[in-house]
Amino acid sequence: EAKRRGKNRYCIYDFALAMEFNERLRIERNLKQAIRKGELAVEFQPLVDLHSARVYGVEALCRWYHDELGMIPPDRFIPIAEQSDAIVDIGAWVLRESCRELRRWMDAGVPELVVSVNVSARQLTDSSFSELLTATLTEFNIPAAQIELEITETALQANDHVLRQLEHIRKSGVGLAIDDFGTGYSSLSRLKELPFDRVKIDRSFVRDLPQDANDIEICRAIMALCQVLHLRVTAEGVENHDQLEMLRELGCCCIQGYLFSRPMRPELMADWLQQADIRAMLE
Ligand code: C2E
Ligand code: MG
Ligand code: MG
Ligand code: MG
Repeated sequence: EAKRRGKNRYCIYDFALAMEFNERLRIERNLKQAIRKGELAVEFQPLVDLHSARVYGVEALCRWYHDELGMIPPDRFIPIAEQSDAIVDIGAWVLRESCRELRRWMDAGVPELVVSVNVSARQLTDSSFSELLTATLTEFNIPAAQIELEITETALQANDHVLRQLEHIRKSGVGLAIDDFGTGYSSLSRLKELPFDRVKIDRSFVRDLPQDANDIEICRAIMALCQVLHLRVTAEGVENHDQLEMLRELGCCCIQGYLFSRPMRPELMADWLQQADIRAMLE
């Protein structure tokens, strides 16, 4: 009986695996047409500076509205896109949409804002990436200082060629942030060499604040490291006031999270920016 059940379970596992494989294939095949079919969208989430109690920027986050599979979250399709090279086209599209929306907000009189765009390692291995970036900024007449690129630590293990391209981008005035900091494994010596000016503390270290003593010490250590290296710090995934207060105590003054807002459609952003009372949200 046990053996039979074991075998059954094995079959179920096989089936799940087959489903998974099937869906993966489907996502991969559909991704290539997603842009053309207008199924991709970019949402934006506010980034708040506690000192000034204002929104200093927004992060662009990609969504895919598939006609049969529904909304596919980026955690599901970005890794597949990275393997199939579709990320190059998707990344270019997200960058362009981000600049287009920023231009709209600027024209509508929204106070100066940085738009932060996620960039995959694979995009940076293309030597034409910095040209694409410059061309897109020029097309929408966006000052370089109003764009920031978020790159995960894993992308930083890349070769000298990627490093040179990052240096070139940083010199042009575009900001560079290390995303999900603490979850990869960049060495401290590497960190020192890299042309970054901001670190984003991964959500996993914020979630259990202020109860988890280890997380407090990890965040404290990241803050100390960033102070030595002259890096600015933004904490991700702040959902409540207790987390906020702990981070403030640790000296972290840039905050992103549901506490202020979930990512929202760009047409809602200008109104939200005008109406949101950050000072009141901080109380
Ligand atoms: P990320 O760059 O670390 O983005 C932050 C993620 O945390 C977003 O998830 C955001 O919605 C979520 N988040 C923000 N505040 C909170 C909070 O208070 N609580 C919780 N539980 N979550 C919060 P999202 O939009 O699902 O994106 C997931 C990941 O997908 C991103 O993580 C990024 O790595 C990747 N991604 C999204 N858009 C793009 C893109 O255009 N290009 C690339 N290469 N990657 C992207
Ligand atoms: Mg990010
Ligand atoms: Mg992140
Ligand atoms: Mg993250």
